[in-house]
Amino acid sequence: MRPVRRLLGFVLVLAVLVAAAVWLADRPGAVTIHWLGWRVDTSVPVLIAAILAAVLAVAGVLKAVRAVLAAPGRLLAARRGRRTRDGYRALSDGLAAVAAGDRKAARKLSHRADRLLADQSLTGLLAAQAAELSGDVAEAERRFGAMTARQETAFLGLKGSMELALKRGDRDQALDFARRAWALGQPADGLAATLFQLQARAGQWAEAEATLDEAKKRDCLSGADLLHYRALALHERSVLAEAEGRADEALAAAVKAHQADPMLVAAAVRAARLLHRAGKERKAAQAIITTWQAAPHPALVEAMVALAPAETPLQRVKRIDRLVKANPDAVDGHVALAEAALAARLWGQARTHLALAVEKRPTAGTYVLLARLEREEGRDEAAAQAWLGHVAGAPPEPAWLCSACGKGTDGWAVSCPHCHALDSLDWRQPLLALPPA
Ligand SMILES: [Zn+2]
Repeated sequence: MRPVRRLLGFVLVLAVLVAAAVWLADRPGAVTIHWLGWRVDTSVPVLIAAILAAVLAVAGVLKAVRAVLAAPGRLLAARRGRRTRDGYRALSDGLAAVAAGDRKAARKLSHRADRLLADQSLTGLLAAQAAELSGDVAEAERRFGAMTARQETAFLGLKGSMELALKRGDRDQALDFARRAWALGQPADGLAATLFQLQARAGQWAEAEATLDEAKKRDCLSGADLLHYRALALHERSVLAEAEGRADEALAAAVKAHQADPMLVAAAVRAARLLHRAGKERKAAQAIITTWQAAPHPALVEAMVALAPAETPLQRVKRIDRLVKANPDAVDGHVALAEAALAARLWGQARTHLALAVEKRPTAGTYVLLARLEREEGRDEAAAQAWLGHVAGAPPEPAWLCSACGKGTDGWAVSCPHCHALDSLDWRQPLLALPPA
């Protein structure tokens, strides 16, 4: 369509020009000009043609002058474009070098990007990471700090500053940076857990719980982590409420903590104790059994026994048998049942469960119970001594051990009493020390 229209237009213009030329040729007329002592005699068509030619010539000269004047600017723009392109290439190569841990290349490309790209907020992340990689902490801090000033890079700047503060062990400063980064409202994957841990370690449990609420809204913490952290916070809330004499709140928080994370032994023990005190013995036993099925622990046996401290040895055997039936794989259940059976003088039952326990986890405690059985049942001192002979070389009993500092503690606590790491105590058997070569 368009070429046809253009052709039509051209034909039309040509027709008008030809008509004008014919019209002028039919009306020649004469023009005489006197100017500065000159005299020009010509016809009207020639004069018009001369004026047209002059206008075209002036337009051509103007265009040429403009092109000459614009040339340096265009060259400059092209050069600037090339610099920016090279700058971005240095930036992306530099970030790749950081990821690969190539200290030298990262530093070199960071300097190059800095030189080529005028905007330091763009090159800040690379510069900070390159500085960190080569151990220049002061420079890394300065660069991350500069990034916090600009809205677009503030989050990365604060997060980087927080990580540097954590590395040098300054938790107060790290908490301040974490809180400011969190306040920017981004989904912030990974930040929620760090902020929660810093708040919890500083004893700011109410703020830590608020962080969990916000993390749930932003959907930036895994469901399991969210529930486990919630249980820790509720457990601490219950401890505080009980210490301050608010029994109802202590009970409600303990029950919620147990429901949030049934694997948290301390929450189950606390919930059972407070439920029992409130006269809800069935619910207390149920809390213990739920946790026993997922995370069996001797503290749960103690909690079960504490529900009826005055019962007869036979009643005690029945009570602990409920635990063994709920989780037959739990060694601590067999040990506890054997001990109760010994007290009730049920020798056969004691022997059965000690045999199971010593096969699955032969510890000093189990050998001592076997020796007691031999003495009490048949007064067989030789057999008892044979069992006791195993005690010295037996693997150690499981204990609460800190995954951060490796030390053991008597009972569970939300943070390690030795190194104060949060949520670091695991119930496990200590590794045996290798005998000297
Ligand atoms: Zn520790």
